[in-house]
Amino acid sequence: MKIICIGRNYIDHAKELDNPVPPSPMVFMKPSTALLIDDKPFFYPEFSENIHYEAEIVLKICKNGRHVEREFAQNYYEEIGLGIDFTARDLQDELKSKGHPWEIAKAFDFSAPVSNFIPISDLPNGREINFTLAKNGVTVQIGNTRDLIFDFDTLICHISKYFKLHIGDYLYTGTPAGVGPVVIGDVLVGSIEGKEMLTCEIK
Ligand code: ZN
Repeated sequence: MKIICIGRNYIDHAKELDNPVPPSPMVFMKPSTALLIDDKPFFYPEFSENIHYEAEIVLKICKNGRHVEREFAQNYYEEIGLGIDFTARDLQDELKSKGHPWEIAKAFDFSAPVSNFIPISDLPNGREINFTLAKNGVTVQIGNTRDLIFDFDTLICHISKYFKLHIGDYLYTGTPAGVGPVVIGDVLVGSIEGKEMLTCEIK
């Protein structure tokens, strides 16, 4: 399986990092070795001194396809989860300044915690999904998927032009404002529509 991620997909987050709002979805990937499941702890890696959390709604791909047309895009995902796109911001800034690929800052082992998945049909509104991330009991990120620059269906169409979607792939859809650092001992809790989905302790 593969983990497809979208950068700068909420205007307020693009602004907080002083990045321009992209004209088309900004796509990157993480390997399957980045996954962290079952609320296992995240061990702070020795190669960074500035690991940031980014809470994101994650789609689970439920159908194989290439070149998906927009009217069929919604058939490719039925369930969502809450994920964290851990980012070594210090490495990322260094790589970006050199114009290099940012893989090691984004795709390192266990950089992609993800919750269990719930059917979108169980939510009050599948187009306007509320989600939050709390750090040590204090809410640090509040998002709603109505504020996505590129919505789920647009992402499915765009990505499938370049990469075949496979059942079981994950799509991290981008983070809203409020990203920030973690330190050892922090506990992150991610929720969807007020329901706790994911806990991640930093060790
Ligand atoms: Zn992200």
